[in-house]
Amino acid sequence: MRAPGDESVNAKEKETRNVIPDPARGSRAQFKHAGVNPSGFAVAGRARVRSEGAQMRSFPLPGAVPRYGPDKVVDVEHIDLYLAPDIAAQRMEGVCTTRVRAIEDGVRDLHFDAVDFVVGWVRDGEGRPLGFRRTTGTLTVHLARPLSRGERATVAVAYRLEKPRAGLYFVAPTKEHPEKPTQCWTQSQDEFARYWFPCFDYPHAKQTTSTTIVVPTGTFALGNGRLVERRDDPVTGYATFRYAQDVPHSTYLVTMVAGAFVEVAQPGASVPVFYYVPPGREDEGERSFSKTPRMVRFFEECTGTAYPYARYSQIAVADFIFGGMENTSATTQTDRTLHDQRAQLAFTSDDLVAHELAHQWFGDLLTTRDWAHAWLNEGFATFFDALFREHDLGRDEYLFGMYENLRSYLREVREHYARPIVDNRFLSPSEVFDRHLYEKGGAVLHMLRCELGEERFRRVIARYVRDNAGRNVETIDLIRAIESETGRNTRAFFDQWVFRAGHPELRVTYSYDREARSATLRIEQRQTIDSANPPYRFELQVGFLDALPGAIERDAGPSPLPAERRHRVLVERADQTFTFDLPTAPALVRVDPDGSLLGTIAFAFDAESASAVVLSDPSPVARIRASLALAKDGSPAALVTLGRVLSDDPFWAVRAEAARALGETHASRAKELLLASCDDPHPKVRRAVAEGLGNFRSSDAADALLGLGQDVSYHVIEAALESLGKTRDRRAFDALVAALDLPSWHDLIAAGGARGLAELGEPRATQHIVSATSRRHSDQLRAEAARALGRAAELDDSARSVAVTRLAELVEDEAFLVQRAAVQTAEKVRDRRLLPALERVVQHSLDGRIRRAALEAAASIREGLEGSTRLSELQSELETLRADYRGLRERLGTPSA
Ligand SMILES: [Zn+2]
Repeated sequence: MRAPGDESVNAKEKETRNVIPDPARGSRAQFKHAGVNPSGFAVAGRARVRSEGAQMRSFPLPGAVPRYGPDKVVDVEHIDLYLAPDIAAQRMEGVCTTRVRAIEDGVRDLHFDAVDFVVGWVRDGEGRPLGFRRTTGTLTVHLARPLSRGERATVAVAYRLEKPRAGLYFVAPTKEHPEKPTQCWTQSQDEFARYWFPCFDYPHAKQTTSTTIVVPTGTFALGNGRLVERRDDPVTGYATFRYAQDVPHSTYLVTMVAGAFVEVAQPGASVPVFYYVPPGREDEGERSFSKTPRMVRFFEECTGTAYPYARYSQIAVADFIFGGMENTSATTQTDRTLHDQRAQLAFTSDDLVAHELAHQWFGDLLTTRDWAHAWLNEGFATFFDALFREHDLGRDEYLFGMYENLRSYLREVREHYARPIVDNRFLSPSEVFDRHLYEKGGAVLHMLRCELGEERFRRVIARYVRDNAGRNVETIDLIRAIESETGRNTRAFFDQWVFRAGHPELRVTYSYDREARSATLRIEQRQTIDSANPPYRFELQVGFLDALPGAIERDAGPSPLPAERRHRVLVERADQTFTFDLPTAPALVRVDPDGSLLGTIAFAFDAESASAVVLSDPSPVARIRASLALAKDGSPAALVTLGRVLSDDPFWAVRAEAARALGETHASRAKELLLASCDDPHPKVRRAVAEGLGNFRSSDAADALLGLGQDVSYHVIEAALESLGKTRDRRAFDALVAALDLPSWHDLIAAGGARGLAELGEPRATQHIVSATSRRHSDQLRAEAARALGRAAELDDSARSVAVTRLAELVEDEAFLVQRAAVQTAEKVRDRRLLPALERVVQHSLDGRIRRAALEAAASIREGLEGSTRLSELQSELETLRADYRGLRERLGTPSA
């Protein structure tokens, strides 16, 4: 599963936390049990202050207790679904037939998870009626007689859904958007299958399925597994699609999609591969999905296991609430990933496509037993998506992708919380689908790969897949596969990186002593260290070169460079110094060249050593870290070196990071260097240059940004417009208002206009941003405009009321992207007037991602209020003390100071 919303920037789910609700299990009741105030909001004890002063929340929401999967009473062997959706009426008739086998003697009743739908009848395998009882979230079926251990029974349930609240979604044209297609699709992860068919809805169970879907002729329908039959009945005007998934899978992977789609077959893989897009969007489909057969071959090779299912389909649907969902053999993708040629300049669907395909092994064939271990799904899919990138684009792209993953995890820690990757303290399972599960999980695998070495790592992965194919897995299964294959006991590794929260924060200081002829590296662990948080223990790679390599080598492998002296040092204390005997001062010092350390590394190098790294180290991660050290140094010489990086580095990502770092210095020399790089050949560098120029309020920066505003890439224009607003140039307002009407993919240009208007900090800008949130615009623009309102409120007091009023409405918007943006913005705006809307969202939203964000936003607002109340209390206490003091002085007869 991938989060939605970042299809426009490929920034890998930058701010999303995928949280889905579980109303059937009474999460709200749990809030009450925990003694939280009735609105469900926590106030006290949620935030603690970290050493550097940033506020960090705790991961478990109030009332979250450790969650374990349910007991199993029966093994489900097969589920047969007969589904007749009526898309126009937003209804579906269904018959779900389940074959079970008793695990113990005396099974009398079957308790199916089943939410909302109306049950018509329940029958046994011979068609005899069975008694049943409906309670909230459960359908209890009374069997004709108790089953003994190993005995089978079949139960058929006829049911009807009407405008379902979750699980099954209908899309249709609206007054504002007549272009919308007519479709329906399901989303079962994590526990939403129960909203569209009765089942034992937990990933620890796997069964085969068969699906029959009846739709009007001309409508296409997709289910899991092989296509058994496709038949049109000219008499009734209906078409029947029958699918069979013969490989057992979990209920959260069961899917049904129906609508008008074009089928495109993609040759070149070991199984038939297809994609399905709305008619007329075939070119966009090709752009997004063309690499799929190659990816299938690549993942078969990496895992040593053939693609597990009879076929592979991807279907692009409208209004999808995720980026992609890896239903077995039939991935649902958001149609937001479809894009035109201009967007392709700085955007690719490849990461999303590879991620969902990797899940067919990791998640679908090997399935987490329990949501707490879901990193075995998501961390693996994140890592294998990066492996394909390496295969396709080279090692630099892989290492940079890993570095970006790491940063995304670190941002979550900075802004929200740190938690163990394996964690069962949640109200709804989707809360763990965050940057720890995906990016930190992927980073753990990258580190394991570096530690074991390529060949051993490949063997371990193949072993893990082979030993666990078709099964449910927990982290111990991976630990055991490593042990079986290599003999290594990695329990300490997993305890430290997977079962413990946090990461090391290193400061690395380098010096060379000419007299002693030795180099010294001091490595300090600067994270909080106490009895509960001992120092981390890991090996760090360090290398020395006597002469600088001639040119920066692209895509260098993990091996040391020729003539490089490579060491592995064991870091295990808070402050350690390592000395290396070196006859001459090394020209280049390399630290963690593979960027494998799951933590931060700040280089405290002198400018000369840092310059050597940025100008010659083949590791893009090392060059970026050293660039940041140079930007921090800020001396004229450091800036000149950064300018060289920006103009000459062979890898676009390093040039882009140098541009951003230069911008952050606010130095006029940096501005000149940025101005000279507006014509970089890579659009992502031009975008970073545009971002960097936003730090300068000058007319030459604005001139350049107006120029970049005409770029061929939407992404560059978007960034240029936002930065143009930051310059506060007098030409900006008109240019930004005009941009609001320019059509572009995902409305990136209009979104840049809205963000730029917010940056102006002028009252006349706000009304234009508010109009951009109107329903007649795309959800993407409305979401960006909602975020821009938050920024406007921050910069311009006179805009605050208007912005807050509109945000309070958007917090309850029907469109997922818009609502999520508004709720997240509410947390930043921290205005008490948003509380009633947020409270309603907490009470009524079925989407746990939204609910958690609303809870956090409300908690922030309340903390702010508490803070100001506390401040005024302190002020009045101080006044009282002063008065007492004056009184005391007077009584003592000393003159008041
Ligand atoms: Zn995923």
